[in-house]
Amino acid sequence: MHILITNDDGVRGPGLLALYQAASKFGQVSVLAPQQNWSGCGHVKTLERPLRVFETSLLDGTPALASDGAPSDCVALAMLGIIPQAIDLVLSGINTSANLGDDATYSGTVMAAMEGMIQGVPAIAFSQDRPRSGVQDFGISACVIDHVLKAFVQDGLPAGVFLNVNVPDLPVSELKGIKMTHQGKRIYHDRLDKKADPRGGTYYWIGGEVPTGEYDANSDIGALADGYASITPLQGDLTAEVKFDWGD
Ligand code: MN
Repeated sequence: MHILITNDDGVRGPGLLALYQAASKFGQVSVLAPQQNWSGCGHVKTLERPLRVFETSLLDGTPALASDGAPSDCVALAMLGIIPQAIDLVLSGINTSANLGDDATYSGTVMAAMEGMIQGVPAIAFSQDRPRSGVQDFGISACVIDHVLKAFVQDGLPAGVFLNVNVPDLPVSELKGIKMTHQGKRIYHDRLDKKADPRGGTYYWIGGEVPTGEYDANSDIGALADGYASITPLQGDLTAEVKFDWGD
């Protein structure tokens, strides 16, 4: 199996190296990831400027490719020929904070997986909740990735479906299990910070507290709150299943 990995935290992110190490047990891994941090960039297709690709390395020196495009651009570049060998699976992450509920379309990590799905290749995004303190230990994500990739090797993924996997930031021994979930409802606490730049101009920053969410035991938000890892199947079709007819 030939696996493409990318992320949105940048090619030097620690989560990308952890994903590389976890994925390497399942096949040959190629890396094409953004040069810089694109967290929160969503699903990007860069059309109005050139895209460049560079040879670089992961944190441990493993050779990798980087681009000045967004995570979804990296997936498209790889598929369109930067990586000549056919790609069987796209993995994105490990993001250094959770991507739960409404985060999905903001997330460069999750939307890189969506790009893989659109290009017709199975794709999975991995995110680990931010640590309460200290350095993030990706050991728990390594276990969950191993479980998910074993399931993928056995079953594959339905066409048009990609996965958003979230892992709590806990010691491996405290993980309650791995649950299938639906996308939950985030509650954002965004606040507009207005500041003056050194030349006297005004600029704005979207600040505020870390988002919370509505508790629902069957959602991604509920699973993490209860100490489980969460697997949410997502699709590109955003059509709402409601009775609503403004046609004529
Ligand atoms: Mn990120």
